Amino acid sequence: MQPSDSSQSGDRDFITCCRERGIKPTHQRTEIYRALMAREDHPNAETLYAAVKERVPTISLDTVYRTLRLFEEKGLVARVSTAGDSMRFDGNINRHHHFVCVQCHKVRDFYDDDFDRLKTPQTISRLGEIDSVHVELRGVCNDCQRQKRKKT
Ligand SMILES: [Zn+2]
Ligand SMILES: [Zn+2]
Repeated sequence: MQPSDSSQSGDRDFITCCRERGIKPTHQRTEIYRALMAREDHPNAETLYAAVKERVPTISLDTVYRTLRLFEEKGLVARVSTAGDSMRFDGNINRHHHFVCVQCHKVRDFYDDDFDRLKTPQTISRLGEIDSVHVELRGVCNDCQRQKRKKT
């Protein structure tokens, strides 16, 4: 096990992260980041807005959007690309992969050494240069399967 990177959790670390990336750690930004880190479901901007609004009633959806875009630009959060869904955000910038439920659209993180070591095919150079590899598995999650069983 590698020692975990201490710059990835907690408010003090958030401030450090911001400084390193030239972002001002304002109160609103801290709250947005905290709200994202508190969840594992890769929320969209609207969901985060609803959560942050409880603590910061004056915040606007636009601010949440702009902040998330800034965080993404600076590599503080990642955007999850799920087809046909609204933009979703990921506070986990450790190397990981996703399991996407095709029914409830929940996106869950998982870790796998084999996937981390995946070799990209040579032919990909035709399309561009690879920065990172992320595997997305799709299926029906256990919760949805249980619900289905209950109904039948
Ligand atoms: Zn599901
Ligand atoms: Zn994730």
